[in-house]
This record gives sequence, structure tokens and C-alpha cells, in this order.
Amino acid sequence: RKLPVDTSGEPESRTVRGACFSRVQPYPLVNPKFVALSNSALTLIGLSADEVLRDPHGAEYLSGSKLIPGSEPAAHCYCGHQFGQFAGQLGDGAVCYLGEVENPDDLQISQEFKSPCGRWEIQLKGAGRTPYSRQSDGRKVLRSSIREFLCSEAMFALGIPTTRVGSLVTSDVYVQRDIFYSGHPRAERCSVVLRIAPTFIRFGSFEIFHPVDDFTGRQGPSAGRHDIRAQLLDYVIESFYPEIQRSHTDRKERIVAFFREVTVRTARLVALWQTVGFCHGVLNTDNMSILGLTLDYGPFGFMDRFDPEFVCNASDKRGRYSYEAQPYVCRWNLARLADALGSELQAACAGPILDEFIPMYESFYVANMRRKLGLLRRVEPEDQDLISDLLKTMHNTGADFTNTFRLLSRVPCPMGKQSEEADAVGLVVERLLKQCASLEELKVANHPTVEPRELEMILSMAETNPGMFNMVANRPEVAKQLEKIGRLKELLDINQEDLSLKQKDDWLRWINRYRRRLALECEGSSDPHLVEKERVTTMDSTNPAVVLRNYIAQNAIEAAESGDFSEVQRVLKVLESPYSVNPGLERPGWLGCRNERGQTGHK
Ligand code: AMP
Ligand code: MG
Ligand code: MG
Repeated sequence: RKLPVDTSGEPESRTVRGACFSRVQPYPLVNPKFVALSNSALTLIGLSADEVLRDPHGAEYLSGSKLIPGSEPAAHCYCGHQFGQFAGQLGDGAVCYLGEVENPDDLQISQEFKSPCGRWEIQLKGAGRTPYSRQSDGRKVLRSSIREFLCSEAMFALGIPTTRVGSLVTSDVYVQRDIFYSGHPRAERCSVVLRIAPTFIRFGSFEIFHPVDDFTGRQGPSAGRHDIRAQLLDYVIESFYPEIQRSHTDRKERIVAFFREVTVRTARLVALWQTVGFCHGVLNTDNMSILGLTLDYGPFGFMDRFDPEFVCNASDKRGRYSYEAQPYVCRWNLARLADALGSELQAACAGPILDEFIPMYESFYVANMRRKLGLLRRVEPEDQDLISDLLKTMHNTGADFTNTFRLLSRVPCPMGKQSEEADAVGLVVERLLKQCASLEELKVANHPTVEPRELEMILSMAETNPGMFNMVANRPEVAKQLEKIGRLKELLDINQEDLSLKQKDDWLRWINRYRRRLALECEGSSDPHLVEKERVTTMDSTNPAVVLRNYIAQNAIEAAESGDFSEVQRVLKVLESPYSVNPGLERPGWLGCRNERGQTGHK
């Protein structure tokens, strides 16, 4: 690697100046054994699950207990903004980089998933202390490793850019962790995942040059080292953006093109997250990949019931990283990347690119949503409203995000077979209603979280002073609470039967609207049946039948903790084909099976 490495070799926590990496050694585990392997991830580095399993030392090699010949173990130095504040030197406290593996010649994956530099970086997460471990031990436990393993591979299968995990090894070494939902520390098995990506360089990698921060007074450990910043930047562009390197001889222009491309990829990524209901949970700048990959799986969550305010990270009390905030947070993070590039990227160049981010995101988002709804042949002015109307209906009725989209391909386009079509609509509505929220659940969901009495006052002021009301109600958080109060009031006077009727009306109304739009798809076609068939096929290969819900991960974790790894392997298998109808994962009454403890700790 052509980047500066700190070779003092001391594992103690320290500030590392003037280097992007520190030499370290992974710490061996006692009795390392495989929990699960991802064959498709291992093929990226020329291995197969069988071959690794057959090797008597396989689990030792893939956990850092034995060093793979040719490894150059090192830990990467990065900083970051955590929850909006510059946090100084952060990590990587738990990851040991091993080196890079050349693309195998016979690698059969589509171009967009190939490594742009022809090499794959491999690293061990949880292999012990590094100079960046601060107060912690650099270890990971089964819980966090299973979540990272399953979700990385699930995201890949969904076609969402992500870092990969090739293997998961556990051991007879134990560490204590606080589990915040139980509050009791207990001994957990140290576990290590083998992560694979073209690079794990992140926005935060460029923040080691951060000058004294106005707000926190902190400073990046390599502040002022413009020489290293230029080296890192050139390395990233030349290795991972070869097309930009080739097409721009002028360095300044090349850097602008690079920043634009990172912006485009980030917009594309967050649009994909939104369209599968994925919430990252900790979108700090150090968890933002420079390649636009989903990076660092912690308290992530896939939404069950659709709720734009969904927050999956229990420590995120203010909802900074809520579902609906993700695009705006990504934009904010890109602005921090622009800052970090400093004089390499003039603010006058970064500004207009950042201004394009939200429109760019929106166009990716709408394009994804159009596919999800099977609106493939024409663009109608009402399409955006049809989408937001659907989301509103889902929210009002407490419908499940994944299952709702999956059902929509069963809504028939009007073809003149009226009674048959009415039956099909009836079936869809019945299945939709089965997964809508009950009255009690909706009441809980709509319970305003801040000062309901103050909001009542604002409501009553509306009658006497509309100007003042508008001023206050235009504050988004107040408006949101007002809306919740309105819906709560509505719900207080209703009974379950009336609610079910109302939910049925809501869905019938939206489905009729959707069918009128579907009729336009077929209009003018000589073979409307073919159009309809294509729509159904597209929708069923765009809307997953299964996602990694929290309770599914939790079941696999609990089984693995008691020594049974078969559930992790089974879940992986199901998630590898998320579009096939699979009776294996979703059980009847699955909503009730949700992990009611809510967020699972992940550290
Ligand atoms: P995260 O919230 O997972 O992005 O982690 C924030 C920072 O804490 C990163 O710099 C990690 O390297 C570091 N970190 C997380 N877990 C550990 C651990 N077990 N030991 C040392 N450092 C860790
Ligand atoms: Mg992280
Ligand atoms: Mg993490």
C-alpha cells in the first residue's frame, strides 16, 4: 500500500500522527470454529466455502489466529463526526486489515459488483486491540458478528452496494458486554468476521486532517499534513475511480469529478435503502464509504410497519438517524467530506454539487419506486402523488413495508374480466388487512412524545390567532406532533370494528387509484397481457419477499449462543434468494414474533 504507515508497533491506545495505518498483529483466539460461511463472498478472493471448511486450519486463518502467508496486518486510522460533532481520532479500534487479494481470473459476477482496482481488501473485524481501541478491547461478540454477517450478505442479494462478509468464526474466548435491554453484563464469545471490499476507506479517513474544530476544540491527528491528504486522495481516485483518473488530466478537475461521483453514489445508495425500508442507524461520517457502499452494520433495522420516523438505534433519542432523515444526513456527511478535502476541493465547486444531491436522490428514489409499483412504460404527472398516497395509507393503517409491496403485484390491471378481477382485489385487500395494525397498536404509535398539553394549547389558539398558529405549526417537529394528536383524537372515538372498516376503505380507495394507473400502462399496447406479465415479473424481482427483520436475526443469535449454528446458516440461505417465494422464514403471525425488546445491542 502506498500510504504512510506508523510502525512503532505498540498496541496501546494512542494518537497516531502522520499515518493512515498502524502496524498491528491480530490476537489469536482459543478454539476458533466456523459459525457460517458465505460462498459467494469467498469467491471474490478465490476461495470456496468447501475448501475453507476442509482446511484443518481454515478457522484459524480466517480469524487471525494464524496469519495468512503474505498478510500485512495493519489498522486504519480515521476520524469522524459522531451525531453531528467532530469526535477526533476514532478508529479503527476493532479491525485488522490483512492485505489485498487479486481478483480471481474466473470471477463471474456482473461488472458493477467487481472491484474497480482488481483487488479485494480483506480484514478481520474483532481480532483484538489496535492503537485505536481506546477503552475497549477490539473484540466483537456473536451478536454483533451475526448481524453484520447476515445483513452484508442480505444486502448484496438485494442488489444494494455493500461491504461483504466471507466467514464468521467464534471461539472459547469470552468478553463481558453490557446488554442495554437487560442491563446485566454477561460473558459472550469473541467472534470474528472476515470482511471483504475493494476498500474500507471512508469519509472519516479524510477527517484525520481536520483542523482545530470550532465547536469541540478537537483536532485531527494529522491536521496540517496536506502532503498526506494529497497522497490519500490521489491513491483513492487512481485505485478506485480509474475512469475518472483516465478522463481528467487536470488534477483540480479530477478531484471535482471524484467528489461528484461520490455524491452520485451516495444518493443512489440512500435511495436504495429507502426503497427497502432499511435504516442504517449510525450514519456518522466514519461509517460512510468512499465508494458508496453500505458500511458498518451496527444497530441497523429493516422497518416492519411503515413509519417515516422509524429509529432503529436506541441511543439515538432525538431521531437524528431516523428513516426519513437518512437522505438529509447523507448530504450533511458529504458536506463534511468536502470540508475534509479542504483546499483540494474549492467550496465554490463543492457547493453546487451538494445542491444537486437532494434532487438527484429524489430522482433515484422515484425511479426505484416506479419499479416497485410496476410503472414501467410511461411517466405520468400523478405518479409521485400515487407513491406518497400509498405511503400515507401504509402509515395510517400500520401496514408492513416489505409485505405490502410484495402483495401489490397481485393487484390486477383492469382487463375486462370483472368478476375475476374483483376476486383478486378482494384477496389482496384481505391479506393487506391481516397485517394492518390493531387499534391498540395505532394508539401507541400515535401517542405524541412531547408535551401533548402544549400542543393542545396551540390547537386551541388556532381559533383565535391563525397567524401565530401557522408560525408555530410550521415548525416540522410541532407539525408532526399536531398531526399525531389529530390522529390520536380520531382513534380515541373509534372502535376496532370501525377501524377495520376504515382501513378497508383506505386500501380499496388506493387500489382503485392504482388500477386506473395500471390501465394506462397497457393503453395502446397490442398485447396487454404481455405488458401485465412483465409488470408482475418486474415487481416480484424488485420487491423482496424476505428481509432481515430484527426478530429473525435475534432468533439466529439466540440459537447460535446456545451452540446451534444451523439457524444462522438457514437464514443466510433464505436471504440469498430474497425474491423467491420462500415459506422458510416468514411464519404466520410473524408480526407477533417480532423481538419485542426492540433494538438489540450490537457492540
Ligand atoms: P461504530 O459505532 O461501530 O461505528 O464504532 C465507533 C468506533 O468505535 C469505531 O472507531 C470502532 O473502531 C470503535 N469500536 C467499536 N467497537 C470496538 C471494540 N470492541 N473495541 C475497540 N474499538 C471499537
Ligand atoms: Mg464504525
Ligand atoms: Mg460498528
